[in-house]
Amino acid sequence: MKPVYGKNFKLGILGGGQLGRMLIQEAASLDIQIHVLDPTHDAPCAELANSFTCGEFRDYDTVMKFGTDKDLITIEIEDVNTQALKDLQAQGVKVCPDPAHLEIIKDKGIQKQFYADHNIATSDFRLIESGTELTADDLPCVLKARTGGYDGKGVAVLRSADDLAKAFDGPCVVEDLVDIEKELSVIIARNEQGETKAFPVVELVFDPVANLVDYLFAPANIADDVAASAEKLAMQVADALEFRGIIAIEMFLTTSGEVLVNEAAPRTHNSGHHSIEGNICSQFEQHLRSVLNLPLGSTETLRPAAMVNLVGAEGYTGPVIYDGFDDLLRMEGVYPHIYGKSTTKPFRKMGHVTILANEVAELPAKVAQVKETIRVISK
Ligand code: ADP
Repeated sequence: MKPVYGKNFKLGILGGGQLGRMLIQEAASLDIQIHVLDPTHDAPCAELANSFTCGEFRDYDTVMKFGTDKDLITIEIEDVNTQALKDLQAQGVKVCPDPAHLEIIKDKGIQKQFYADHNIATSDFRLIESGTELTADDLPCVLKARTGGYDGKGVAVLRSADDLAKAFDGPCVVEDLVDIEKELSVIIARNEQGETKAFPVVELVFDPVANLVDYLFAPANIADDVAASAEKLAMQVADALEFRGIIAIEMFLTTSGEVLVNEAAPRTHNSGHHSIEGNICSQFEQHLRSVLNLPLGSTETLRPAAMVNLVGAEGYTGPVIYDGFDDLLRMEGVYPHIYGKSTTKPFRKMGHVTILANEVAELPAKVAQVKETIRVISK
């Protein structure tokens, strides 16, 4: 058996964004090499990895070439060349998560069908060839590109006839518009031996314009029975997939008290960023533990946390400035994470701030204060 620890162990990551960067920061405590593949020459991982390969993770030959000399390949983005990962597996390279799981998840149509086939509670949906087929009779609904969407891109909430102008072309999922009370997420990790651990349920607050996470509270401010239902539903997804690695299950708590799966991400997730400071084991350490088949860490909460995404302010595109950073550092219990991207643009995820408090009730005011203190702009 190959040793998991040791200077010669080569872990390859497909994707070199902020998730990979925080994974490398965690991996620095383990004595392993991290090699990263990403098409952007100055990606957040570029300067931190043992080696950085500038190349397209969606391209078969590039992934094959990158993967052949690695002991293990993992991902920080699901939209990668899964055929190459399967062929690398056949050559004896370990790949975690399984490419078969990536194929189910990276196509939102296949993913929704998987939930329907496994009796996993999710909103009703249908698949269409193009969003432009939609008419006023289909409203209200949510249109989602089957592939390639992220951070709210490729998602359009269509309520009125005027919104039909936002419908885009290409194969899509059309979902019933859910009456959302709260958005919840549970991150589950499982290693090869089947050891499984779930992080406590968190509550996500989305920016209504950009459809991406604005901030979160951890643990979620929900009744115990709702938390139990969310955890059970998330576990149902991980079990149905027979998932190995780390997976985030995003869910909706509806106004009538139902919990529905929205979507899954087979990797570390924005809904787990607070765990770096807020939990005994962070999601990034747990990712490493799960893919390396090590004992999983405790997911127990150390202190109530909030996490605020630092996204590019509207109206600014160009070299980034973190306006108010000094004032942010004067606040107690505030931990900024800057991802090292050189250029900001509206709603681009540039960093995040974790806030720890003694009581859950202190968090909303602290979130508001952080949001007022720091702005991501350019000259
Ligand atoms: P992404 O993959 O970009 O994160 P999601 O599928 O998670 O896209 O959708 C982004 C956001 O859009 C959700 O978090 C939610 O706020 C809203 N949304 C998505 N699906 C629905 C739905 N069926 N009903 C109501 N809102 C939805």
